[in-house]
Amino acid sequence: MHIILAEDDPALAESTARALRTQGWVVDHTPRGEPVPASVKADPYDLVILDIGLEGIDGFETLQRVRAQGSTLPVLMLTARDAVEDRVRGLEMGADDYLVKPFALAELIARVRVLTRRHQARLGSVLTMGSLRMDLQARRVWIDDQALDLSAREWAVLEYLLSRAGHVVGKEQILQAISGWDDALSENAVEVYVSRLRPKIEPAGLRIRAVRGFGYLMEEAAPAAPGG
Ligand code: CA
Repeated sequence: MHIILAEDDPALAESTARALRTQGWVVDHTPRGEPVPASVKADPYDLVILDIGLEGIDGFETLQRVRAQGSTLPVLMLTARDAVEDRVRGLEMGADDYLVKPFALAELIARVRVLTRRHQARLGSVLTMGSLRMDLQARRVWIDDQALDLSAREWAVLEYLLSRAGHVVGKEQILQAISGWDDALSENAVEVYVSRLRPKIEPAGLRIRAVRGFGYLMEEAAPAAPGG
């Protein structure tokens, strides 16, 4: 994995880069924002870690320039404590996540893993939503780094709902999608699998909402209030 780190505080940059390198990742460090857009255009980076206060143009301007050239590279912003407006602004400008300084290096590494996985998922046969990741080829599903145990039918229902996230799907549709295993399944069975899935995917920030008279809707649970 190849990471570009823009951070002007030498001590923080050094400890951050060192922590990332312990994972076997390659880290290029710059105290300035200006070189970042050209670098991510020229080289196949996997992630950008961007401080807001930098030498020269700030992190926001840097982010804007990266996105303006069409890059979908994951960007993790580093923000000051209590700087809620900075976090919101960063996310609205296309940052994928943020970390509040001072942060634990273990948390940094975890966030980097989540962001890069999510990015790879957009490029491959992996469905992701919230912190849930469903690898259709490996037939495995995780919440963060925790593997999830699903029966074959729970898997099928989850895959069906996840691949149509944001759309209401009927019980009959779900039934058809999973009926290969058992012709005797009824729509009640769909309800049973949905009710088994709900507590399993809840830690990923996901919920399956029942839409009366229609079916189900896979959606992200409302996020916690910032700072709360
Ligand atoms: Ca700084």
